[in-house]
Amino acid sequence: MLDQITIQEFSQTLSQPLIMPFDSGYDEGRSVWNGMVDKRPAMIAKCTNADDIKKCVNFARTHDLIVSIKGGGHNVAGRAVCDGGLMIDLSQMNAVIVDPIERTARVESGATIGELDRETQKFGLATPVGIVSKTGIAGLTLGGGNGYLGRKHGLTIDNLLSVELVTAKGDLISANETENADLFWALRGGGGNFGVVTSFEFKLHEIGPEIMTAKVFYPIEDAKQVLAFYREFTLNAADELAIYALIVSVPPADPFPESLQGKTAIVLLVSYAGSLDDGKRALEPLEKFGNPFLRVIMPTSFIELQTSFDKSAPHGIRNYWKAHYIDHLSDEAIDVLVNYTHDIPGPLTVIGFEPFGGAITRVEESATAFPQRNASYILGLFSGWIESEDDEKNINWTRELYNKMTPFTSGGTYSNYLDNDDSAKVSSSFGSNYSRLQEVKNKYDPKNFFRLNQNIIPKPDL
Ligand SMILES: Cc1cc2nc3c(=O)[nH]c(=O)nc-3n(C[C@H](O)[C@H](O)[C@H](O)COP(=O)(O)OP(=O)(O)OC[C@H]3O[C@@H](n4cnc5c(N)ncnc54)[C@H](O)[C@@H]3O)c2cc1C
Repeated sequence: MLDQITIQEFSQTLSQPLIMPFDSGYDEGRSVWNGMVDKRPAMIAKCTNADDIKKCVNFARTHDLIVSIKGGGHNVAGRAVCDGGLMIDLSQMNAVIVDPIERTARVESGATIGELDRETQKFGLATPVGIVSKTGIAGLTLGGGNGYLGRKHGLTIDNLLSVELVTAKGDLISANETENADLFWALRGGGGNFGVVTSFEFKLHEIGPEIMTAKVFYPIEDAKQVLAFYREFTLNAADELAIYALIVSVPPADPFPESLQGKTAIVLLVSYAGSLDDGKRALEPLEKFGNPFLRVIMPTSFIELQTSFDKSAPHGIRNYWKAHYIDHLSDEAIDVLVNYTHDIPGPLTVIGFEPFGGAITRVEESATAFPQRNASYILGLFSGWIESEDDEKNINWTRELYNKMTPFTSGGTYSNYLDNDDSAKVSSSFGSNYSRLQEVKNKYDPKNFFRLNQNIIPKPDL
């Protein structure tokens, strides 16, 4: 237990006073995206610069406090917040500085996807990130980062040029291809294991302001045919095409037919990261296939595309996730999945396939810490509901579906999708890179000071 005077003195050294459990901003400060998470840190530091972060790390190390790091607070397992200990909240460090000539962006580590996109799109540029705009750049990047531009330009980490971070010793250092190259390798996929990142530098690409997109909704009764079509469409797809197949609940609003609102459906959500004319041609198969109840194929602003899923993933609802990598989508796998999705218990549940392949696959497995590059898709089971009394029903349903799909998968899982009960899957999520990650962890954080994450156990030198 720390005495009040020690805490008070530490608080006065920071740019903003600590938020304590009796302060009015405490509940908001400790809340994260997943409403299942209800942890109570001893203190919350809203850092505004690297110096604040250094002071937090030094204070926590000296007083043996557990530390959690909050970027955008979207980690489903709630690792951004701790019980007891010091929560380092980076949400105020969200500056994004774009260099349109060099096509790079320097991004503070509390920035969200939306904040990054807004600045880069002013110059018609973007880097590959995720598909929900409130997600934090930090957690997303450190775990890999997959989204609409992934097949064309790779994962977020494949576009990372350099990182600045505060180490467990409290030093502010840089990591890039030439400086602390071992650390730079580990930061590209190894999560928040190595320090508190203060900023990232990304490579940018020309994109937008509009790109061709498609949203095609089919009744769930057609799901087997839709997924068979999806398999063929993705097999032959150009890198520019990002094709998601998602089983969702039909939103209760126009332009969806009233009779189908709230019912389960399958949607093909597609974007083309190239010219509008090429995109129109690439999306032609979608003009013809099946009997959708809503088909919208049109140019959309890139910013709009990047926010189009936001309403489906609101802050504070209850969530439980599981994910698999899939190489080949067999008829049997489709049958098992679709048969299981007739009675989805969670009204905000999304089950579906995220595209991999293209540029993601062309990076060597050992080139970065992110190993699982040969899969064709990630199958995400993202269960979402409102009431705590429905927790067990939704969690059990998700686990069962996960187990039923296991025989059709290629092993491993995406570390950014690991939930609270997935600690045993951490090493397999890093696959063949785990042992090298342990060595880097041992060099930069031998005492495992940063352990509220997809934790890599330091491997002592032999
Ligand atoms: C609605 C939703 C949509 C998503 N969509 C996608 C998607 O399209 N593609 C995709 O790849 N992923 C997606 N994700 C997963 C996402 O990548 C992870 O949840 C990621 O952890 C979110 O990062 P964050 O900064 O918001 O998380 P936080 O919860 O703030 O942080 C998660 C962890 O990252 C580490 N961390 C955060 N900030 C730092 C830092 N500055 N320095 C060191 N470590 C840090 C810490 O270990 C922390 O526990 C999505 C998640 C959600 C909830």
